[in-house]
Amino acid sequence: MTRLAFVSSPLNRNANNRANADYIAKRRNDSTTHVVQIAGDAVRMENDRLFTSNDTPEMGAIYLGEDPKGQSWFAREIEPNEALIPIRSLMIEGGLTQERLSILAQARSILHWHSSHGFCAKCGAKSLMADAGYKRVCPVCKTEHFPRTDPVVIMAVRHRNQILLGRQASWPPNMFSALAGFMEPGETIEQAVAREVLEEAGIEVGAVSYVTTQPWPFPSSLMIGMIAEATTTEIKLDPAELEEARWFTRGDLEMMLAGTHPEGLYASRPQAIAHAVVTAALNT
Ligand SMILES: [Zn+2]
Repeated sequence: MTRLAFVSSPLNRNANNRANADYIAKRRNDSTTHVVQIAGDAVRMENDRLFTSNDTPEMGAIYLGEDPKGQSWFAREIEPNEALIPIRSLMIEGGLTQERLSILAQARSILHWHSSHGFCAKCGAKSLMADAGYKRVCPVCKTEHFPRTDPVVIMAVRHRNQILLGRQASWPPNMFSALAGFMEPGETIEQAVAREVLEEAGIEVGAVSYVTTQPWPFPSSLMIGMIAEATTTEIKLDPAELEEARWFTRGDLEMMLAGTHPEGLYASRPQAIAHAVVTAALNT
């Protein structure tokens, strides 16, 4: 079973019906409908369970989709209150099923987009939500705006039996992870991997291969997990990006992934894609 977080949504997003106001109204008024309540990157919980009201979601709520029981899910932004739990804590400590955690990723990312994109980027007028939350339309210049997802490449850089991991100064002590960075406009995934590895660690890479992807709702990234084969090994660190980068042996990495390294070093948690790309680089 995958422990990678946010990749197990059970919802049919039902995109063909989002613009159908009658259909969405019917789903809003259905007594089995769930409404997830989110404030920033935290969610309302009650008695250790995800709180979902069965009240009719108001017009501002976003339609997320329909679960395998045929029940609809909506999400809405609420004011911060004491019953909120950070989504990151739920990810790390458990407490929700993978399916529900994945629904929260969709909810959090799209609610964040609405809260930060209230005005038309073309003319500056206040824009209005449309298509049950999957579009905003400017009433003045008629421009349509769509939710954004920011692609990030994250890669295990491999040279023979060793893998390069780095750490940022802001991370917990002893934690190392795969290098990562935002893709830039006009770039392929392969080019972004090569550029980031060269910028951050001074290493040149050749072949690049795909491992997996993970939505990362803080606030709305798509992590693209890759393996990059290094063609040089001398590390030249960019201190603005990384505090340290090192080549680790297979033996070190296996202990770091398992949390049994004698120096207390560890790699990212299994919920994060860095863990999956390092594991894939060891096993392929
Ligand atoms: Zn406009």
